[in-house]
Amino acid sequence: MEQTTADRRTSNDAPVAFERFFLPGPTAVRPEVLEAQTGPIIGHRGPEIEELMEELQVGLRTVFQTERPVAVSTSSATGLMEAGIRSGVGRRLLALVNGAFSERFAKIAELCGKPVDRLEIPWGEVHDPDQVRERLAGGDYDTVTVVHSETSTGALNPLSEIAAAVREHDDVFLMVDSVSGAGGAPLKTDEWGLDFALTGTQKALAVPPGLAFGVASERLLQRAEGLPDRGLYLDLVEFYKRLKKRNTPSTPAIPIMYALRAQLERIREEGMEARWSRHREMAERTWAWVDELRDRRSLDVSVLAPQGGRSPTVTCVRLPDDGPDGPAIAGDLRRRGWVIATGYGKLKKETIRIGHMGEQNLERLNALLDVVEEVITQ
Ligand SMILES: *Cc1c(COP(=O)(O)O)cnc(C)c1O
Repeated sequence: MEQTTADRRTSNDAPVAFERFFLPGPTAVRPEVLEAQTGPIIGHRGPEIEELMEELQVGLRTVFQTERPVAVSTSSATGLMEAGIRSGVGRRLLALVNGAFSERFAKIAELCGKPVDRLEIPWGEVHDPDQVRERLAGGDYDTVTVVHSETSTGALNPLSEIAAAVREHDDVFLMVDSVSGAGGAPLKTDEWGLDFALTGTQKALAVPPGLAFGVASERLLQRAEGLPDRGLYLDLVEFYKRLKKRNTPSTPAIPIMYALRAQLERIREEGMEARWSRHREMAERTWAWVDELRDRRSLDVSVLAPQGGRSPTVTCVRLPDDGPDGPAIAGDLRRRGWVIATGYGKLKKETIRIGHMGEQNLERLNALLDVVEEVITQ
């Protein structure tokens, strides 16, 4: 008899329940949001897609806190990072680097042939707006890239202050990767004067992976028109032309758009302020738990990011030298039916990452932290 995929699963690779899934992306998606994906396939030109796009625009504008139209790209978030670079960097980029994803922004620019300088600080730290000011004064830059919430380290950059520093130069545009920020950490695209802000479906928004969203300022689009190498698939000018007709340059992932519509309705019901508070509470609980582990259990653990510079959506915990490492802890948890992440890249072994974002709540987080404590201290 032919085996189905389900038959072949051992108990160790059966999917983990929503309640026990704390990866910092992709995050757990509510069953009813997953089910929304089974809606009918519609044409990607015409009134049906226009209606769907219009509904999505309303919710997405709230997520980005913007009055601008929001581009919907069928790609992962990295696609819109590349779109921003190709459609935005003319003269020279200053890339603020404090982790793996901010390094990715710099790398993309290099691979697209753009002149790049890095302002690099140790992983886990956050950027100082005055240092950004200093670098901008000494270089001929027209663009700055920054990652809002560095998912590799759990650091949250002081985005509004960095944006203020960049705004002191009329011709320098700020591009923001808020992939693990948007929907969990306050992000105020218009108020902070961001020229490009992007996110993806699968982090704090808790929608299945496969779409990315970006808001470009009018002046960024004007600059883009004069840049020759924007390519075709990721051309922001084309996205915005199509937005006027409420559709997309090429065929979008319609099922994920249905899931997004369902999730945006949930987000609207919860309210952005309440959503930000819920994330903040989960983060504070996690940081307090790390302190308790250190004080009560005498374990040499700490939150990697500094106080005042920590993301509300993901915490990166530095582990003791003499205990189980990141992969051992994540593996042990997985065998017990729970999912967290190891450290990222060069921090893989010495840290673990807990994603307290999307649709998770304090009660389920507390249950997780009890199990992690058992695993770390055994
Ligand atoms: C996950 C993530 C990305 C990459 O997103 P993809 O959707 O996998 O392309 C980029 N930046 C940050 C901060 C992320 O957390």
